[in-house]
Amino acid sequence: MTRITPQPGIMDIKLYESGAAHVAGVSNAVKLSSNENPLGPSDAAIEAYKRGAYNLHRYPSSDQGDLRRAIADVWSLDADRIICGAGSDEVIAFLCQAFAGPGDEVIYTEHGFAMYKISALAAGATPVEVRENERVTDVSAILEACTAKTRLVFLANPNNPTGTMIGLAELERLADGLPEQAILVLDGAYAEYVEGYDAGAAMIDARENVVMTRTFSKLYGLGSLRVGWGYGPKGIMDVLNRLRGPFNLSQAAQDAAIAAVRDTAYVAHCRGENAKWRAWLANGLAEVGVPSDTSNANFVLARFADQAEAEGCDAFLQSQGLLVRRVGGYKLPAALRITVGDESACRQVVHAVKTYKDSRT
Ligand SMILES: *Cc1c(COP(=O)(O)O)cnc(C)c1O
Repeated sequence: MTRITPQPGIMDIKLYESGAAHVAGVSNAVKLSSNENPLGPSDAAIEAYKRGAYNLHRYPSSDQGDLRRAIADVWSLDADRIICGAGSDEVIAFLCQAFAGPGDEVIYTEHGFAMYKISALAAGATPVEVRENERVTDVSAILEACTAKTRLVFLANPNNPTGTMIGLAELERLADGLPEQAILVLDGAYAEYVEGYDAGAAMIDARENVVMTRTFSKLYGLGSLRVGWGYGPKGIMDVLNRLRGPFNLSQAAQDAAIAAVRDTAYVAHCRGENAKWRAWLANGLAEVGVPSDTSNANFVLARFADQAEAEGCDAFLQSQGLLVRRVGGYKLPAALRITVGDESACRQVVHAVKTYKDSRT
């Protein structure tokens, strides 16, 4: 028997399953499985990325000051308390690595994002899953699950894959009710889709125990570049910065992200298009007997009669070149998560779901 063994927890990690990108035999599949912006990134971001080609021999900025200041300007934050990561996934990993180890507990909700469990296990900590209330975060249930071992509570708001969110009063009740050794992490991957929502920034400034994570992968349309960021109290950010590799973001990624965050007109345009087609998609699905909760993000969680119907519909959608996300792994086997695409994609989805439903009656 080999004596070469990994650290505890690592072999309990189930590999992350990303959204399908191809269907056999279909060359121009419509990908609605990873919550990507169908309109792509801002032209200014693409231009900035291209200019980066001339400096590929130079190491990137290690303090990422220009990017942090751009984010701080746009969101009215303190640039000294922003940390940038290779996607917000990296910031989530830093949080687990820094604050949770063997014997510690990391809480997330029933249908919560897979990376919380993966990062908790990678750090050797114990993942603790808390029930939701009909696909909505249940703050009381989270508070009841807290113990003297709780170190981190991860909550995406809006949540993925449900699309639901809770209000500021509930978020504050959660932050204020946590045991004193625990940090509340508000994952704002979809915050830009919610008009007027600060993703918890004011709460963070008023407390010592709240952090938020954000990403350029969703509304900004830069998933391939891997840029995310976190914001929180100085003490916590100082800890995370010790774990951050000095060159974790390429310069082209930093430059593209700066251009993207400053292009607020494009952000507003994408938010508006998403809201319009999200409503259209949800209504169209409801009309053919497929309900969904009111979504605050760039996807809808379409609910079917049962698992067989959801899987049958997924197979039919695939045969039509439409890729959506099965969410059985998120304890929602009778649902499919469908990213809000452009007009044509939304029309194709509703048409295909209707055809499938009609074929079964
Ligand atoms: C997509 C997503 C992320 C973002 O991941 P990146 O690493 O920034 O690409 C984080 N949290 C949730 C809930 C997400 O859906």
